[in-house]
Amino acid sequence: MNIQINPVSPESRKNPPESLEGIEFGSHFTNHMFLMNWEPDGGWQNARIEQYQALSLDPAAIVLHYGHEAFEGLKAYLTVSGNHVLFRPRKNFERLQQTSRRIGLPEIDADFGLEALKLLLQQDKDWIPNEPGCSLYVRPNLIATEPALSLKKSEYFLFYIILSPVGSFYAKGFAPVRIKVSEDYTRAAAGGIGGVKTAGNYAASNLAQIEAKKEGFSQVLWLDGKEQRYVEEVGSMNIFFVIDDEIVTPQLTGSILPGITRDSVLQLSRNWGLKTTERRITIEEVIEGIENGRLTEIFGAGTAAVISPVGVLQYKGKEYVIQDDIGPMAERFYDEVTGIQYGKTNDPFQWLEPIY
Ligand SMILES: *Cc1c(COP(=O)(O)O)cnc(C)c1O
Repeated sequence: MNIQINPVSPESRKNPPESLEGIEFGSHFTNHMFLMNWEPDGGWQNARIEQYQALSLDPAAIVLHYGHEAFEGLKAYLTVSGNHVLFRPRKNFERLQQTSRRIGLPEIDADFGLEALKLLLQQDKDWIPNEPGCSLYVRPNLIATEPALSLKKSEYFLFYIILSPVGSFYAKGFAPVRIKVSEDYTRAAAGGIGGVKTAGNYAASNLAQIEAKKEGFSQVLWLDGKEQRYVEEVGSMNIFFVIDDEIVTPQLTGSILPGITRDSVLQLSRNWGLKTTERRITIEEVIEGIENGRLTEIFGAGTAAVISPVGVLQYKGKEYVIQDDIGPMAERFYDEVTGIQYGKTNDPFQWLEPIY
């Protein structure tokens, strides 16, 4: 499919913010966006890059009522040698297909999606920040637009990609966060949609997150939806433990999102010859490990923060301190992944993809 490019005229272009310091994650957007429409007649069509602008949606659009949508999140980086690159972007477009399948949305060819993103980034490449730790966040979104309050399957869809320059997640330093183990709510159930990237999962976790914030915690640790025993994720990140120098992460059971950062950490860990295990892990085992000192680190892994160390866990009203500072393993993974992303270390797995 041909992609129509309608560049914003130079005089009506906004300039990127001079510095991203103090700018909230995902609050500024570039000059252009990519869009295409699905119609029953002919499928995906009218692929175009145009000025970033508000959408016109019927108030009855299915996505607004029943949440039929799929999204992705990835980043573009400016490397130290001046190249504009994406980090493992094909994985995101493949995951978008998996989410689409699960929600009943039409799939987008991964090669085409990636091509569209590269063309969009070429238009707005001066928005990829060169400040240390900063990047251009990419948000693809696929929504059901048909106006219908009946629970029918939409026949009309919109896919779009927007771009947002984002600052270093660690503007205030790499301080470990305080986490509350959620005992009252679960994020995802077996057989549900926890394993795909769709809006409903965030609606399900919102209240727990609000309550935890009120109590002075920055995120929630999620247990499984059936027994409330097995650790699944932390906030909107995958979770890792260091136990007796072994790297342990919950195995993908269907209610855990298969993160690309998770996969990168696992590949690096195995490549370094560390004992690396994907298995089910109970909250009791975690608490016991903290108490007897065999569990030395907990960290989250996801695109936004890359690695986020956990300092304190609260479970059943009691606080367990893991670490005051970032642990050596978390630091090693953070340095390696970000080193590859900014082209500071070599890229043995060929994770970087140039935008040209
Ligand atoms: C996006 C996401 C992650 C992290 O996935 P990455 O591909 O590493 O960014 C983890 N958990 C949830 C619930 C997510 O939505």
